[in-house]
Amino acid sequence: MHISDIRQRLRRLGASAPHEERVLRLWACALPQDSGRRRLEDFLPQALRAELPALCADLAALARLQSEHAGEDGSARLLLALADGQAVEAVLLPPGRTPGLCVSTQVGCAVGCRFCMTGQGGLVRQLGSAEIVAQVALARTRRPVAKVVFMGMGEPAHNLGAVMEAIELLGTLGGIGHKNLVLSTVGDTRLFERLHALEHAAPGTVKPALALSLHTTKAALRAELLPRAARLEPAELVAHSERYARATGYPTQYQWTLLEGVNDGDDEVEAIAGLLSGKYAVMNLIPYNAVPGLPFARPRWERAAQMARTLHRRGILTKLRRSAGQDVDAGCGQLRARTGAA
Ligand code: SF4
Repeated sequence: MHISDIRQRLRRLGASAPHEERVLRLWACALPQDSGRRRLEDFLPQALRAELPALCADLAALARLQSEHAGEDGSARLLLALADGQAVEAVLLPPGRTPGLCVSTQVGCAVGCRFCMTGQGGLVRQLGSAEIVAQVALARTRRPVAKVVFMGMGEPAHNLGAVMEAIELLGTLGGIGHKNLVLSTVGDTRLFERLHALEHAAPGTVKPALALSLHTTKAALRAELLPRAARLEPAELVAHSERYARATGYPTQYQWTLLEGVNDGDDEVEAIAGLLSGKYAVMNLIPYNAVPGLPFARPRWERAAQMARTLHRRGILTKLRRSAGQDVDAGCGQLRARTGAA
């Protein structure tokens, strides 16, 4: 289901724009429909009031909590059942300055990253924009959410219309600050076109921050590791991201899943320094979480720390992600696969 479907249903019940906004705002913020400033009976049309319990039941059915798995670092993986019996994961990120949630954008994923559990099963189906927002609404019944990262199962660029519709709602009625909406991608021409179009959009338009999963500076190795990602050269990916970062004022967050003996060499460190020198960027090094059956390993912590130090010395703002909860990119789909929900 898409947000536009909910809007149409509300309009058929006689909702005007303020009615529609109230219902959608309370839903996205996980507040009861009778908690608005004005009493329901003084505000909503009768037909809409009568239909509200059924509508709320349908919205609640978009994503139901199937199980919750707490991490040692305060994160929590939520396994969510969708209305048709499919399942996705959302992750409450470890407590920090801004309480965050990582959401899924597809059931499965077509990119097929060799190191990712989700990538092995291919794409099962797209999520509707309402199913993406429903993950936030559900998470808000457990904890406050002031940041949403689109880094769970799926490649947002492959479900762009729904993802942008969800971003628009979350950045307006959903009350999430625009720089705290983080769109994560392996890179895709259509997605960059969409982002570049936002650069000149009217003030107030929701512009998400961008995270780019780079993983290597070598085009051939990238094509091997991310077999169905768009064939854009690393330098092109950086050029598009840099243009958007400068236009929006949010640095690009480069994601680098560290795989032992694959992309943790000094040659990569040198190439990253060359590629990102002077760029408005943060490099996130994320030591890999091993997946049973996949032939990749996590490098030693000391090696990862050394890479981070060298990059820092070369002027690249680098963060080494210690926590499993933050390692959602490499870990996506593991919970769903383990519980047999796939
Ligand atoms: S790492 Fe992300 S883009 Fe790659 S297969 Fe997994 S879900 Fe898809």
